Amino acid sequence: MKEATKILHSIPVDPLTGAISTPIYQTSTFVQESPGVHKGYDYARSNNPTRKVLEDLIATLENGSNGYAFGSGLAAIDAVVKLLKSGDEIIAVDDIYGGAFRLFTHIYEKFGIKVTYVDATDAQNVANAISSQTKLIWIESPTNPTLKIADIAAISKIAKAVGALLCVDNTFASPAAQKPIDLGADLVIHSATKYLAGHSDIIAGLVVTNTAVLGEKIKFIQNASGAILGPWDSWLAIRGIETLNLRIKQHSENAQKIAEYLLQNDLVKNVYYPGLPQDKNHEIATQQMKYFGGIISFDLKVDDKSIASEIVSGTKYFKLAESLGGLKSLICLPCEMTHKSIPRELRYQSGVTDSLIRLSVGLEDADDLIEDLKGVLGKVTKNLTITTK
Ligand SMILES: *Cc1c(COP(=O)(O)O)cnc(C)c1O
Repeated sequence: MKEATKILHSIPVDPLTGAISTPIYQTSTFVQESPGVHKGYDYARSNNPTRKVLEDLIATLENGSNGYAFGSGLAAIDAVVKLLKSGDEIIAVDDIYGGAFRLFTHIYEKFGIKVTYVDATDAQNVANAISSQTKLIWIESPTNPTLKIADIAAISKIAKAVGALLCVDNTFASPAAQKPIDLGADLVIHSATKYLAGHSDIIAGLVVTNTAVLGEKIKFIQNASGAILGPWDSWLAIRGIETLNLRIKQHSENAQKIAEYLLQNDLVKNVYYPGLPQDKNHEIATQQMKYFGGIISFDLKVDDKSIASEIVSGTKYFKLAESLGGLKSLICLPCEMTHKSIPRELRYQSGVTDSLIRLSVGLEDADDLIEDLKGVLGKVTKNLTITTK
């Protein structure tokens, strides 16, 4: 079965009524025939039929064993870290999502979990950081916002050799573009807030495990800590995932055209997009990704925050906002928004300059999006020429 068919037909018809759209089971408890005798559901923190459809769906799409839905991407990350105990160590990708960095540093370090950050574009850096206490390796690929790619299969071998778990945050790619479990990952997490739900209307997180044994452990944590996704938001996530394949294909096609346009604009210095043949991550991206996704970053030859600020405030279709993965295009200035809390020197080390701009390319017509960028870049270039004369 091909991916587009698999997505749609992994969502079951409701067994009770035949409803083709999954019913929203808005209930906290389930009536039992006699104590402990019920239809598989007793209390909705432990299990909810709507949430279960979403959980089984994401497990299927990621070619995993079990799936679990949480109230946010961060709650999903939190559930995975709770597999560890005091004294254990994590090796994480250095340009990790800021919220994950905050959780690791300000919550888990005080419980005695140490985190080492490495540039995971070279798997050898991960191997070099391994200690006898390493229990979890945490990868994002592509990363935010400079779209670095990690060789998931190579890192999985390093993890397996020392008995550590490999977790991949697959938010930027989505399972339509990349399947980390097929490449050897033990766990996949998602901020379903982004491409999976896809409509900028909910906050949600998912965890997928490669085995039922690991699944039971996450299930225990989900029920014990209680950060579950509610039935309405589960339904919206299912509804979003139905069109995932189509959306990722189009997001990627639009992004490819825009990245190629940006490459030949005179004001632009670097374009970060793994779909560009000249991108340094292109080869490994081609091996492990089916589509290159909808996120592009670029910076300017004039590395000036106020000029970059003028650009992100001046587009018509690209709306100035944080987040990504929705239908409408978004633009942001990481140094003032998503990456503001990172010291300037550290930011520059990972390529996040004052003029770096991130695009979440939406589903508008690519020609209109290019016109939009052309307009604002042209205006800024003209003003620069006037002032330098
Ligand atoms: C947004 C995001 C998260 C956090 O997800 P929330 O749903 O906002 O809690 C984690 N990882 C990545 C890569 C993200 O983009």
